[in-house]
Amino acid sequence: MTLDEAIAQIQRERAEAQRALAQIEAQNAALTAALAERQAELAAHRRLSNQLQRQVGQLSVQVAELTAMLRRFMKDPPARPAEPPDDDPEPPDPPAPAALGGGGPEPQSGKNGRKPKAPGRGGRRGPGATLDAEVVDAPTPPQCPHCPDGGRLLARDTEVTVKLTAVRGFIRRKIIRRPVCVCARCNQRVNAEMPPLPWAGSQFTPEFVALVVYMKFVLMVPLDRMQKALAAQGADLPLSTLVYIIARAAELLGPIDGEHWRQLKAGPTIHVDATGFPVQVAGFHRLWHGFLDVFCRDHLHVYQYSATKHADGLAEKLAGYAGTIVCDAEARNGAALGAAVEANCNAHPRRKFKDAAATQPVLAQEGKSFIDRMFAIEADARRAGVRGEALRALRKSQTRPIADAFRAWLLRVEPALVPSDPLRKQVSYYLKHFDGLTRFIDDPDIPIDNNLSERGFQMHARLRHNAMFAGSHEGAHRWAVLLGVCTTAKRLGVDVLAYLTWAIERRGTHRGRFNLPVRETTPAAYRGAVAAAGRGVGAGEGHKAG
Ligand SMILES: [Zn+2]
Repeated sequence: MTLDEAIAQIQRERAEAQRALAQIEAQNAALTAALAERQAELAAHRRLSNQLQRQVGQLSVQVAELTAMLRRFMKDPPARPAEPPDDDPEPPDPPAPAALGGGGPEPQSGKNGRKPKAPGRGGRRGPGATLDAEVVDAPTPPQCPHCPDGGRLLARDTEVTVKLTAVRGFIRRKIIRRPVCVCARCNQRVNAEMPPLPWAGSQFTPEFVALVVYMKFVLMVPLDRMQKALAAQGADLPLSTLVYIIARAAELLGPIDGEHWRQLKAGPTIHVDATGFPVQVAGFHRLWHGFLDVFCRDHLHVYQYSATKHADGLAEKLAGYAGTIVCDAEARNGAALGAAVEANCNAHPRRKFKDAAATQPVLAQEGKSFIDRMFAIEADARRAGVRGEALRALRKSQTRPIADAFRAWLLRVEPALVPSDPLRKQVSYYLKHFDGLTRFIDDPDIPIDNNLSERGFQMHARLRHNAMFAGSHEGAHRWAVLLGVCTTAKRLGVDVLAYLTWAIERRGTHRGRFNLPVRETTPAAYRGAVAAAGRGVGAGEGHKAG
């Protein structure tokens, strides 16, 4: 083979290789395109699946509502006409005067600014037709909003709307009279504005919605009992309406719960605990055993519902958190830690050592005495108000030697006990989690036990005892949101009912007017606003006097 032939052959081989490469690249491009297409399909399927899950959730709520209604009707046949739907759409500014008087979406309308006629004559009866009423006159708009320099408004009529409200826990009707005006210049109709409502077209005032939430999540009154209590006052509402009010309230207050979660994850420690939470699921004959996680620090309490107790769910929730998780030393928590550090609860082994005294009275008591002494130091420190660096120094000088002696004791005792001995299990548990159990010694932010989150469950436990179960997975999520907001407000020591009213008013139809970011509608922000209002009045008067 000559050199030229060899070169020619190499060039041919090169050309062939290039062709092959081009072919592979083309195939690669085709596969990439196909992959992108599959991924788009997958994303679309996921969206659809999420949508379907939401729909299933909503449908199961409806089924629960219908079942409850059916049961009610079977028990006592309907003696009254069917109730109107509770989210009666109400156009904020009806365009034509034809909407005045009867036939409008309002439960009741009057004319000519006279007091509204007694209910039940021709028009529909509202749910609280026999209730005492308070009359509120909405102010006439100062000038025409349509004319650039404001036309003069002429009063033409009065539109009357009736809402259910609550005054210090008593149900009342709120009769809102709004002047209907016509502009002298442009001749356009101008209505006085509605006072703040929880949602557009709501038949209920923020006070009423707040009372329903307060009764359920603070006073722990189950909805069926609440329905009877409201009916006794003259507000005869179907159970489905109460369920609907709770759902809308959870929607309104959900972002506040989200803000609490953000604040929790921004802090140094989070207490975590979980409890079972039975949930009724449409189509299942038994209750579904879901789980409720409580996350807390100081007054902040966030509850999250999970249908299953998987570490994945917890890990997802705690993703990115690099502080200390105070929890029971369960496998689930360990797997969910990620970047966080674990600190374990000493109340749990303390109880277990006590239980082990049944089989090993002397040794178990000896072991428990170490833990008892560590708790005694904490109790003294709490009483004396020792915290921060002083607490760290105290724990280092007094608690650390006890922990070291306890560890030596555990190591000595462990091999002496048979593996089946209940005390042996506790000894091994404490040794296995020694670092987590004694982490509090070096960090004054960490408590010796997880009692904060266990106390956080008291409200839930009472609620569960009274109400038994949530009506659906969706219902359980709403339960978690409202319980978290109410518990946080209660822990802050604010008037929970007043706070709920305040927050629902600010997050309802006048949200744009108030224009408050979520963090300024939390219970803590409310407490600040109340304190500032108190100071403001005092300071203003002082200024005048001086
Ligand atoms: Zn005008």
